[in-house]
Amino acid sequence: MQHRRENNILYHYFREKFILPVRMWFYYYTRRLLIIFILAMVANLVFSYFFYTPKMYALRKENNDLVDNYGMLSQKIEQATAELAEIRNRDRNVYRSVFAIDTFTMEGIWQPYPDSKYAHARYGRFAQLMSGNAAQLDALGRQLYAQSLSFDQIELLAMDKDMMAECIPAIFPIDQRRMTNRMGAFGGRYHPVKGYYHLHTGVDIPARQGTPIYATATGTVREADWGSGYGKQVLIDHGFGYRTRYAHLSKIIVRTGQVVKRGEIIGEMGATGVTTGTHLHYEVFFRGKHVNPVSYFSRDMSSEEYRNIIANARETTYE
Ligand SMILES: [Zn+2]
Repeated sequence: MQHRRENNILYHYFREKFILPVRMWFYYYTRRLLIIFILAMVANLVFSYFFYTPKMYALRKENNDLVDNYGMLSQKIEQATAELAEIRNRDRNVYRSVFAIDTFTMEGIWQPYPDSKYAHARYGRFAQLMSGNAAQLDALGRQLYAQSLSFDQIELLAMDKDMMAECIPAIFPIDQRRMTNRMGAFGGRYHPVKGYYHLHTGVDIPARQGTPIYATATGTVREADWGSGYGKQVLIDHGFGYRTRYAHLSKIIVRTGQVVKRGEIIGEMGATGVTTGTHLHYEVFFRGKHVNPVSYFSRDMSSEEYRNIIANARETTYE
C-alpha cells in the first residue's frame, strides 16, 4: 500500500513537473502559429487583391505577349486568305479561260462553316480572337485543297495543249479563192425561204457544186447523214466543247465514228435540203451553243483576207 501511494505521488509529481507544461507549451505555440498563419493568409489575399506579385507580373506580361502574337497570327491568316483569293481569281479568269473550261466549283467549299462549329471556342476572354481564327484556318485549308484540284485539271489540259490547238475549229471550211459570192452572215436574219425572222445559226459560203469541204479541226464524225432542212450534212465533235456542222452537201465522203484531221476533205458542196442555191452552211458550236464561225477564221487568213471576208459578208443568207 505504501509502495502504491509512493508510486502515485511520483506519478503526479512527474505529470505536474513535465507532461502538463509540455502539452500546454504545445497548445500555446500551435495556437500562435495558427493565428500567424491565418493573418498571413489574409494579408496575402488583401495584398494580392491590390498589388501584383512578381510572379503575377510575369504571367501578365506573358499573357499580353500571347494576345499580341495571336493578333499577329490573325493578320497573317487574313493576308494568306487575301493572297489565296487573288490566286483563285487568276485561276478563274485567266488560266481557266485560256483553256475554255468551266469555273471550278465544289459546292460549298469556298464558304466557311456555320458558326455553330466553333461554339466551343466562343467563350472566355479571347473568344472573338479564337473562333475567328479557327474558322478562317478551316476555310483556308479547304480552299487550298480546292485550288490544288483546279490546278491539277489545268496541268492536264496544259499537257494536252497541242492536241487542243488541233481541235479548235480554226480554218476556213473551203478554199476561199473558190467563193463565188459574198458570205452570208451569222445572226438574226430574215429567212429567205420560210419568210420570217430567225437566228441564222451559221455562215453561208457560196461556191460551185462539188467544191471540196474541209474539216476545220481534228475530231470524230458524229453525224454523216440527211438532216431535215440541212440536207446532206456532217457533224464533227472536236472535244474541248467544240462541234462543227457542214450542211447542204452534194456528197458526203466520211462516215459516222470516223476520225478526221483538220483540213481533211469530208464532202462536196451542194444544194440539198432547204436552200436557195449552192452553198455550204457552216456552224460552230461551243459547249452546245451556236457561236459566230467568223471568230475562228483568222488562223489561216492574212488580216487583210479576214477583214475582207467579214466586211463583205451579206445580211441575206442562202440558208
Ligand atoms: Zn445558212
